[in-house]
Amino acid sequence: MKIIDNIKELKEEIKKLSGSVGLVPTMGALHNGHLSLIKKSVEENDKTIVSIFVNPIQFCAGEDLDKYPRTLEKDAQLCENAGVDIIFAPKVSEMYGQDKNNLTLICPPYDAVDKLCGKSRQGHFDGVCSVVAKLFNLTKANRAYFGQKDAQQLFIIQKMVKDLDFDIEIIPCPIVREEDNLALSSRNQYLDEQDRLDALSISKALFEAKKLVKMGVLDTKKIIDNSLEIMKNLDVEYIEFVDMNTFEFTETVDKNTLALVAARVQNSKTRLIDNMVLWD
Ligand code: AMP
Repeated sequence: MKIIDNIKELKEEIKKLSGSVGLVPTMGALHNGHLSLIKKSVEENDKTIVSIFVNPIQFCAGEDLDKYPRTLEKDAQLCENAGVDIIFAPKVSEMYGQDKNNLTLICPPYDAVDKLCGKSRQGHFDGVCSVVAKLFNLTKANRAYFGQKDAQQLFIIQKMVKDLDFDIEIIPCPIVREEDNLALSSRNQYLDEQDRLDALSISKALFEAKKLVKMGVLDTKKIIDNSLEIMKNLDVEYIEFVDMNTFEFTETVDKNTLALVAARVQNSKTRLIDNMVLWD
């Protein structure tokens, strides 16, 4: 496995590759969620590239850019064991030059970002799309693997690929959870013992919502009441229901309905997200 930190060397290595290439874009601090994407890519492609880059332009002012966990050595070991061929882990200046505030950006349309995470994280998805587009261009990957954990991100990237005719297949990968159902996230490292317990309300609310739907409750207002009661120990930013194919809001659950939650735990104020398809 090669660890590459500069664009010139990456381009040279890409030229030498033959066969299909899978790309797994990450911000590092790798956990089993990331590893599920990596495993799928290794299975489905001749070569797998994992990018590890804490992308400053997708963080908003006041967010956790500085304290975001950076664990390259451990990540590299995990990638090596998983059969990754190349890790691309550039510095910010390598990716963006000296002025990261003066870049050409890809900005997804207002409709896609003026809701859910995009509402509180202004400019976040511009940063995501721009770095992902750059990684697609640099790696010339045939497939790229994204987690359904970040459902709005996945939707927006699929739209970007379609709208801009990127020659790449986006492979969605299911959410990996801890045994107690907490969705894995690099940000779970911020949680203290109490926060960790409190955070379980998020997945509990989603699983209970699924149970209600199974019992025939399809009115999202009723489901929201129940979910908010379960999550009353949290500072809930949103609980919303969308059609997973369009990300349009819906008031009645059907087989395409995706329920999405963002909430902060009390002690560390860590913001967590999760989602679930409600139809079995
Ligand atoms: P991140 O490093 O948080 O930017 O995540 C990199 C990729 O891993 C994204 O496509 C995420 O959706 C995916 N991912 C993160 N957590 C999980 C999880 N618990 N299950 C599946 N995929 C995940």
